[in-house]
Amino acid sequence: MSTDNSMPKQTMLAALLTEYRMPLEIKTVPRPVPKHDEVLVKIEASGVCFTDVHIWRGDHAAPDPLPLIMGHEGVGTVVALGSASGRLKIGDRVGIGYVFGACGHCKECLTGGENYCGEFDATGFNVSGCFAEYVCMRHEWANPIPDGIDAIEAAPLMCAGAAAYSSFKKTSVQPGETLAIFGLGGLGQYAVQIAKLCGVRVIAVDISPDKLNTAKELGADEVVHADEQAGAAIKALGGADGCVNFAPVGATWPLMLAACNPRAKIVLTAVPADQMAFYAHEVIERGLQVIGSSASNRQEMNEILALADGGKVKGIINPRPFNKINDALSDLIDGTVEGRSVLTFD
Ligand SMILES: [Zn+2]
Ligand SMILES: [Zn+2]
Repeated sequence: MSTDNSMPKQTMLAALLTEYRMPLEIKTVPRPVPKHDEVLVKIEASGVCFTDVHIWRGDHAAPDPLPLIMGHEGVGTVVALGSASGRLKIGDRVGIGYVFGACGHCKECLTGGENYCGEFDATGFNVSGCFAEYVCMRHEWANPIPDGIDAIEAAPLMCAGAAAYSSFKKTSVQPGETLAIFGLGGLGQYAVQIAKLCGVRVIAVDISPDKLNTAKELGADEVVHADEQAGAAIKALGGADGCVNFAPVGATWPLMLAACNPRAKIVLTAVPADQMAFYAHEVIERGLQVIGSSASNRQEMNEILALADGGKVKGIINPRPFNKINDALSDLIDGTVEGRSVLTFD
């Protein structure tokens, strides 16, 4: 391992999940040492994601015994290199996302689907994540952060922004066509801006008037209240050539089916707790396609970073000091956060 003169300290503060559904414990722990293809990153900003809530609750039990350092929306600076850390050098600004690494040789990995690799490791789940002063990451999985983006803005792009972008791409909507975006939380807000940058007409759909107002401010052409008439209302506006669902409820499904024009694609990103049922004829007769979307690949992360460079895609960010991490988690659980919560480190 080689380092610059400002040697990173040997210990670090980290927020430890020591017991499911209990407050994280902020403790001093040994600072990790980068293995051969890894680099050590000093974290500047770390986004808090609803996936962290699922992990915190124990919805998906962590593969190793607790404690666990969660967090997979990190941005920071490379401060130490492993022996084979590739093109990265000390001082590089990098982003850390959900995929820590994948096998690299399966069909999915070889065709841009590394986030669907059966053997991928998740940051902040299979390996230690970004709710700490330092994290190790594999150099091949580091996304360079353009200079024009603040760490606080960039951190949620590494998961939420990139997932919204990947979902948008899967709708295949073209300039001039209409995309209906269901659920105007953090991902929906990113998707509105991405779609507008790509010349797409946007109909925003949500139950919250406040969120619909925000969607308008972000560029949505039309807003529709997500009641039972929403599908008909979208049809009256010309129908949707694509739909994307960021609302974790099954109730949007019949609305999307009703809103679609022939051969539209419906992209499902949020995961409803309940099963969804439908009459297959509605999909078959109109040639609809239903596509799942989870996380993103590295190229999509680079593309959303390029779109966001210079402030063209901006999140609604709630910054919090790292030591307030438990407040950030509980606000997320209570649903009182608009946009994304980001922890700051000084
Ligand atoms: Zn996430
Ligand atoms: Zn693979």
